[in-house]
Amino acid sequence: MHTIATIPGDGIGQEVMPAAIDVLEAIDAEFEFVEGEAGEHVNDREGTPLPERTRELARDADATLFGAAGDLAADIILPLRGEVGSFANVRPARAYPGVDAVAPETDLTFVRENTQGVYAGIEADVTADTKTLTRVVTREASRKILEYGFEYAREHDAERVTVAHKANVMRKTDGLFVEVAEEVAAEYGMAYDEALIDALAMHLVARPEEYDVIITPNLAGDVLSDLAAGLVGGLGLLPSANVGDDNALFEPVHGSAPDIAGQGIANPTAMILSASMLLEHLGYDEQADDVESAVLDTLEEGPRTADLGGDASTEAFTEAVVDRL
Ligand code: ATP
Ligand code: MG
Repeated sequence: MHTIATIPGDGIGQEVMPAAIDVLEAIDAEFEFVEGEAGEHVNDREGTPLPERTRELARDADATLFGAAGDLAADIILPLRGEVGSFANVRPARAYPGVDAVAPETDLTFVRENTQGVYAGIEADVTADTKTLTRVVTREASRKILEYGFEYAREHDAERVTVAHKANVMRKTDGLFVEVAEEVAAEYGMAYDEALIDALAMHLVARPEEYDVIITPNLAGDVLSDLAAGLVGGLGLLPSANVGDDNALFEPVHGSAPDIAGQGIANPTAMILSASMLLEHLGYDEQADDVESAVLDTLEEGPRTADLGGDASTEAFTEAVVDRL
């Protein structure tokens, strides 16, 4: 039996987490859920938004479900991603039935490197008026994300793997990234194409339906995956995974939504689809598909939550998903 740490966090995290747990309890699999506290309310009480006991819970669990964090997000979610040893951020962007999308044909997944690049945190003050930033690319981290990306593509029968880079300008760092991409692609015996990040941004807007799995360096993945979120109708519905070697954390792309928190009207789709990604990660492929289908059917046929023009509560939507399961 797998142990799942659940950390609802702030705002609507408190409302969408029970929805994900209801769904996980409705499928044919047994889990032990352990709840961890994090967030502003914890900070007010204990002087830290992420107590050591919650870190430990995430570290020891087989996987973690995280809800949302508000103003203290950087002090909560970044350390939690560290606890699970996350090196890959996986973000599917898919247009859902019944949801207004700029590009309804979009169905792609970003596999973003999550440890290095310009986010390695190496900045320096040269003088008060000049600052520098060091961009780190290693063979080891590149190989890790590329192997993960190609493996993900293979498991999902991807028709196309795209490796994003800017090696024409960043010749050494992205040069190394592309060199490793060529090696890994050869080892997997898989075709792939390379895309310059800037050109890719344009193509994603013009012809998103042509892309399937896109492997990117850190910053590019951050920017382009938000762009793709815009193509499919905003951040509110999208799930994500932070994957480590033997642990992982799953969370909706949206934040704590303080404007609607406490009203019971948040759309739990992103949270439930994050739970579906968790199921797949733990090897419950069939159950993961079932959950995804139940969510897609509910989005299509209703009831819908207020953000999608309906008047269903978080609970009513969740109940409809559970009924379908
Ligand atoms: P945070 O600082 O925690 O990110 P935010 O104010 O940026 O909070 P987000 O959670 O990022 O808010 O959401 C942006 C907008 O999308 C808000 O208007 C919010 O109400 C809406 N939204 C986000 N998630 C959902 C959801 N699950 N259901 C309905 N609306 C949502
Ligand atoms: Mg936000």
